[in-house]
Order: sequence, then C-alpha cells, then structure tokens
Amino acid sequence: MIRWGLIGASTIAHEWVIDAIRANGGEIVSVMSANAERGAKYAADHGIAHSVTALDELLSGQPIDAVYISTTNELHKDQVLASAKAGKHVLCEKPLATSLDDAKAMVAACKAANVVFATNHHLRNAATHTAMRDAIAAGKIGKPLAARVFHAVYLPPHLQGWRLDRPDAGGGVILDITVHDTDTLRYVLGDDPVEVIASTQQSGLAKADLADAVMGIMRFKSGLIAMFHDGFTTKYADTGFEVHGTEGSLVGRNVMSQKPVGIVTLRNADGEFELKLDHQNLYETGIAKFHAAIAGNGKPAADGEDGLWSLAAGLAVAEAAKTGVTQPIDPGL
Ligand code: NDP
Repeated sequence: MIRWGLIGASTIAHEWVIDAIRANGGEIVSVMSANAERGAKYAADHGIAHSVTALDELLSGQPIDAVYISTTNELHKDQVLASAKAGKHVLCEKPLATSLDDAKAMVAACKAANVVFATNHHLRNAATHTAMRDAIAAGKIGKPLAARVFHAVYLPPHLQGWRLDRPDAGGGVILDITVHDTDTLRYVLGDDPVEVIASTQQSGLAKADLADAVMGIMRFKSGLIAMFHDGFTTKYADTGFEVHGTEGSLVGRNVMSQKPVGIVTLRNADGEFELKLDHQNLYETGIAKFHAAIAGNGKPAADGEDGLWSLAAGLAVAEAAKTGVTQPIDPGL
C-alpha cells in the first residue's frame, strides 16, 4: 500500500485527489498546512490522522512513500526539491512552477533521487481524449491540420482567490487553464508545439497584471495550427476540443472537464459516428498510473517532462500576449 503525505490543504485535494488516492488503495497519513488550525480541521474533516505545519515534519515524521503537492504554484519548487531529497515520489500540480528554470530543477532533482515525478494533467486520463488520440493514431481523420480548444469557463466563487490577484503565485488564466490545453493537445495529437501568438483580456475578475481570458494560436512541429480560448468569466459557454484532418474531423463536446463526461463525434465521407467511450474518474486513473509507476510498471500519465512542456507553452503564451510578437515554445529538453 502506498502511504501519502499531502502538501497543501487545498480545494483540489478535497474535491478530487483524496478520494482518488483512497479509491486506489492508498493511505493518506498526514497533511501539511501553513495554518495549524486550518490543517487540523482539514485533517479531521477528511479522516487524516495527522496534520503538520512544516515540510520537515511531513517528510521525516510519519512514514510516507509519496507526496501530493497542491499548494499555490510559487511554493511547488522548494517542496519538490525537499521531497525528492527525502526520497519521496512526487505528484505535483500544474503549473509545475512559475519559471522554466525552477521546473527544470524539479525534474532534475527527482531524476537524481530516482523517485517518480508526475504532473497532475488530469485531462490525459479522460476517455474522450484517449478516444480522439486513438482515432488519430489509427488514421481515421487522415493528416491532422487544425485543432480548436474551447476551455473558457466561469471560475466558481470559492476559487476566486489567488488566481485573480497574485501574479507571484502564478495566478491568471494562462498558467491555470492554457497549460492543460497544451498538455491535452500534445497528448491527443502526439505532436509538440513550436510557437504561439496570443491576446489576453481582463474581463471582470482578474486584477493586478493578470489575465482572466486568453485566445491564441499555437503552431505544432507537424505544421498543424491550434486555436485556444480560455477564460474565467465565461458563464454560459460549452467546452470543446476539435481536430480537423484531411479525411475527417473529430468533434469533442463538454470534454474539457474534471468530470468523466463528454461526447466525441467522428465525421468523414461515410457520415457521422459517435465514438464509444468508457468513462472513468480522471483523477483515479491518474493515481492508478502513478501507483503503478512507483511499483516499476510504466510511466505516470503525465511526467515531469510533460509538465515542462506545458509550462514552457504557458510562459510563451503570456510573453506573446505581452509583446504582441510570436514566441517560440522550447522546454529545453
Ligand atoms: P486552493 O486555493 O484551494 O489551495 C491552495 C492553498 O491555499 C492551500 O495549500 C492552502 O494553504 C490555502 N487555502 C486553501 N483554502 C483556504 C482557505 N479556505 N483559507 C485559507 N487558505 C486556504 O487552490 P486549488 O486547490 O484550487 O489549487 C491548488 C493547486 O492545484 C494549484 O497548483 C492549481 O494550479 C492546481 N489545480 C489543479 C487542478 C487539476 O485538475 N489538475 C484543478 C485545480 C487546481 P495551506 O496548505 O497552507 O493551508
């Protein structure tokens, strides 16, 4: 059984990851929060035996095998470095860090410590995206030429905190949502982005220097172009993910979701067909792969290098929007 420590008494752990770990037979031993009272309440509410306020206590107190890091983004780096040094396997939230150099140091530290390092890009685990990936790999749409990602949502009131007013914490829609788009595009297309142009907006929620909406176009190695629209202020839009090829189109609706939902339609010269999907909890699937990787069976769903790619793209999107100039996307791998 894998014994876990939670670094961060977060909403995402509360809503999805604690249950996903337990559904895979993992034990959550301890939680770290900067605030003792909040940590104790969080532990009690979630049936976790121990809560601590210092990373050292979490890493060297109760025996644990792995940590799940879901603090705000500027804290991830030091927490990953310390966890790797203590020999713990690491599942880290996206974006891995707020700079590419920090993220590279995290990946290198986990490699040196020989621990599994994963990025929690949950959308790879969706039946919808896997079905699209398989259909493309099987040649069902011919050569993919273009993709369209609709991922503009409304940020729920209980999450309207640091994402809207803390640039230092990696707030803003790009590091929150565009990184997921990038990872999903890479997964579905089996291709990597090379450059991006983008425009951002402050459409009512974000403050400071942060964007709460962004549109852009990424060019991929194969020549494919992908447009994306991400937002925090879009109350009534659907999400979607489409890939259009020389011989057909794949149209996913309601697929940029944390829930195991959505449909995918294949359209080509023979007509229109809905792909068969076996929906499973995305986070449970991710934890299952992480546990297997710890046991020496395969890789996590998204590894550290995948996290470097999505962060490199997110930072390039932000720079492109700021300068109005097309930016290269280069994770330095
Ligand atoms: P939260 O704001 O819920 O948690 C971040 C930190 O804020 C916590 O570590 C906690 O600090 C503090 N905090 C949380 N709730 C409260 C509160 N009520 N009062 C005071 N402090 C609080 O962030 P999220 O869970 O939304 O995001 C955390 C990380 O997970 C980010 O990196 C984000 O990008 C990522 N994420 C990933 C998703 C995915 O599907 N892969 C989805 C959502 C988020 P402390 O631990 O010190 O108590």
